[in-house]
Amino acid sequence: MAVIDHAEQIEQQARGIPFPNYRYELSVLDLNAEGDRVDWAWIEARGNPELSTANALKLAPHSWRQWVEQGHAATPEVRRRAVRPPRDREPVRQSPESGRELPPPLPAPREPGVSGSASRTPTESSAELMVSVLMDRLRNLRVHKRNGRQSRHKPLALLWGISRVATGRPHLAPWREFREEVGGLLAEFGLPESSVTPEYPFVHLQTSRLWDVHGLPPELDAVAHAAAFDRLNPEGGVTEQVARLLGDPFVRSQAVAVLRETYLADIDQHALLERLGLAGYESAGGIEDSTEDHARKTVPAARRTVTSSRVIRDTVLTARVKKLHGDRCQVCALQLSTRFGTYSEAAHIRGLGRPHNGPDEQTNLLVLCPNHHVQFDTLAIYIDTEGTVRSTANNSSMGPLRTHPAHPLDEAHLRYHRALCGRDTTAHATQGKTS
Ligand SMILES: [Zn+2]
Repeated sequence: MAVIDHAEQIEQQARGIPFPNYRYELSVLDLNAEGDRVDWAWIEARGNPELSTANALKLAPHSWRQWVEQGHAATPEVRRRAVRPPRDREPVRQSPESGRELPPPLPAPREPGVSGSASRTPTESSAELMVSVLMDRLRNLRVHKRNGRQSRHKPLALLWGISRVATGRPHLAPWREFREEVGGLLAEFGLPESSVTPEYPFVHLQTSRLWDVHGLPPELDAVAHAAAFDRLNPEGGVTEQVARLLGDPFVRSQAVAVLRETYLADIDQHALLERLGLAGYESAGGIEDSTEDHARKTVPAARRTVTSSRVIRDTVLTARVKKLHGDRCQVCALQLSTRFGTYSEAAHIRGLGRPHNGPDEQTNLLVLCPNHHVQFDTLAIYIDTEGTVRSTANNSSMGPLRTHPAHPLDEAHLRYHRALCGRDTTAHATQGKTS
């Protein structure tokens, strides 16, 4: 039993032929008060012309009656909780993630789970459906164009929203904090000719249905009015549902890749992600604990941290892996000689600690020369599904990754790294290779 929250006409493709379809967003209603049963007498009463609507309503489930009384405002309260809040879910979500399939690209025209029988819909499939809708919306933001270039206000504000989730901060932030932080991002990474107006994305991102603003009177809800915001200090950020999806590091890396590739391809990606505390691939060197300050650290400071922690992290595990490969780089086979013997570095494929939460295991390690370590951490190279090392800039091959039978790698970690490189997102799965 559900109510329709939103309906839109969309275009889908079957074997390359576009066809119109409708996408509905439903809120499945909670039937806890009725022990998950619907009284059939209610359905019959609704069809009985001799009974008034008000009388039929008396037989309706509690959540339905509340929805009739209060309208959509009641939806958050009467909605069935199919997905548990992120804090309870986190440990469960992270371990099986390695074996997870990519979410389906778009809801299939006839998805069995959406046809109404809520009890048959497994939690996981509805969560994955939402991941594809999330990526879709991120790809289809309405952004202003100026001299043929896309405004970066909305994508930058969304990246800021993602970084909040990544660093474990509340998904909504007071306007004054947003103004400060996103204003800084716009000044640094916005189009050179566009002004620093954080109030625009703050309000207008609401049309993306990925963003919430609370605490504005209705007459100001769609008006970018910085002075009024300064006074009222409303809260804004990604919606609770989006924040929940982004709690999954793999979804998060896909979302970042979609925003970067769609809107921000022509800026210094690494500087931007580092500024947001999302680069993280520096953390492959081993930043164990990226605190909230990390997000605000300047570029050189973050780099210094990495250099020192790399030395500390040479554990028994990394020493063993390096020995297996005889200190030879798995990309170029270089064995660097120093006065004290040969030298190589162990790179975590999926960074340790937040926001990546990769494990400190042999299957998550590569043995690299310093040059390829830097390239791997800065997402300049990735390893494709065939085990070929490729340049992220143009996908050109640098030859097969050198492997050792006693050092198997976990494909899930390689995929995670590819996702950060924008080479394993839903977009690429459905649209094939793009530049
Ligand atoms: Zn190398």
